[in-house]
Amino acid sequence: MLAADFTLLTDFRNVPLATFFSCIPTDYWQSRLVFRILASPPQVDGQGRPTRVPYGLRKIESSLVQTNGRESVVIADPRHVEQFIDDDTEVVGLHSMDPLGLGPVSMSFTMGGVLTPYTKAMFLDLVGRLQRPNRKYKVVLGGPGGWHFDCRDGMQEKLGIDHIVHGEVDHLAPEIFDRIARGDAPPVMRFTNATAPSVDQIPKILAPTMHGMNEVMRGCGRGCEFCEVTLRRPRYFPLNYIGDEIAINARDGQSSIQLHSDDIFLYKLENWKTMEPNEDAVKDLFRFVMDQPGVSHCYPTHGTVSAAVTNPGLIADLTEIVHGGPNKWIGIQSGIETGSPALSRAVLHRKAAPFSAEEWPDLVVQGTEILNRNYWYPAYTIIMGLPGETPEDAWMTVDLIDRMEQIPDGHFVTAPLTFVPIGVLRGEQFYNLDEMIDEARFNVAYRAWRHILREVDQDLWRLTALPAPMKALIVVTARLGGRYVLGIMERFAREKGFRIRAPAKTRRQAEGHTISFPTA
Ligand code: SF4
Repeated sequence: MLAADFTLLTDFRNVPLATFFSCIPTDYWQSRLVFRILASPPQVDGQGRPTRVPYGLRKIESSLVQTNGRESVVIADPRHVEQFIDDDTEVVGLHSMDPLGLGPVSMSFTMGGVLTPYTKAMFLDLVGRLQRPNRKYKVVLGGPGGWHFDCRDGMQEKLGIDHIVHGEVDHLAPEIFDRIARGDAPPVMRFTNATAPSVDQIPKILAPTMHGMNEVMRGCGRGCEFCEVTLRRPRYFPLNYIGDEIAINARDGQSSIQLHSDDIFLYKLENWKTMEPNEDAVKDLFRFVMDQPGVSHCYPTHGTVSAAVTNPGLIADLTEIVHGGPNKWIGIQSGIETGSPALSRAVLHRKAAPFSAEEWPDLVVQGTEILNRNYWYPAYTIIMGLPGETPEDAWMTVDLIDRMEQIPDGHFVTAPLTFVPIGVLRGEQFYNLDEMIDEARFNVAYRAWRHILREVDQDLWRLTALPAPMKALIVVTARLGGRYVLGIMERFAREKGFRIRAPAKTRRQAEGHTISFPTA
């Protein structure tokens, strides 16, 4: 049996960016209300099995089915996981994303782990219900969240997880499950890049995925030090492979396809020296996807903003290909990480390539303007507390948000995340929000959230495609919730004696003041 926790199986009513709400705390009634409204129950078939499942779990399912047969594998509804277990169950495989709430978004939303995010609460609920007295089956955990257990000694045993698997094992799943069933597997199994599958070894999905997700490439190569992805070997899925998988989601009625990559603009990259996109390959990919029966729109998961600056024509062409426009913006997640040129040079390495790392803040402003002009809506992440970050670096990030807010008719959101030690920075200290926050970093977080609220006020109504009553409920909840969060932050600033820096525009308007620090 395979399973994932509830937060990975709700589509959050397809509200843009609402999947971030998986990470809000369970501790306050206000956040519980927001979660209750937004998190719709998983869709299930006649036998109670979820019909749309995280992409990574579908890969494991497919691999097991290929070797052991369809009847030997089932994906369970996490709300009723007990009903899927019988005397023949040998192994329960759990897909994890943020099992202990240590992911950067959760750490930011929960005051560095002081509170409990829904991701963790729902995972603990799932794993808790698997612990029956005298159970014969083994529990194994895999997926992108496995590293959490490296950071929390004893949690694996405490939660009754018999095995944890790290690394890409799409092709090795049957062998691993077999070893576990025979009692011949160690508690922790680590698979490195050396055994990562080639594209030929990665089985195609057999059934629909969450958010119409289809993978088009793995790995990146830009070399950001905090990122696990960059450690992976780049691999590109060919068009016929992608087409076969899209057909499964399209047949399920998912006409908007999410193209999963770590940097879409690096699809079939040829020039590793300049990192300039292979325009033809990227455009062919989007054209191919849009030509698939049942597909009316597609958009990438991730992409780096420097590509918009090197190849603005590519952005314009892609907009045309996916029929983007004033009424159909194209979402993309992208990392700003820092507004400091020095920190960019130290940590982001080739993120700005072919430009120099020091030009990064200028590229972000320019790239945002180009994306917006072509109806792309970037959702940026900012990392607070990168190793070596000084208050001056953090103030530069505040300045960068300021500059971006001055883009005429600009649209973007910025999610401030706290640093977690993964990638080549594994072993560094977690950024403890409560202990390590200072005035500069507080301002990064505050300005980022205030900008999100501005976007909620301006755009959420327009971007949410739901029946009017539900849309009204969600928009009102988001507006009130956003103000509530800002209110908490302002109280926090007062307690700590932090000043909140006004936006540049306001500062300029303040006659006779060269610097303005209004107290919150
Ligand atoms: S550009 Fe993104 S995916 Fe690539 S290494 Fe940097 S953070 Fe990771």
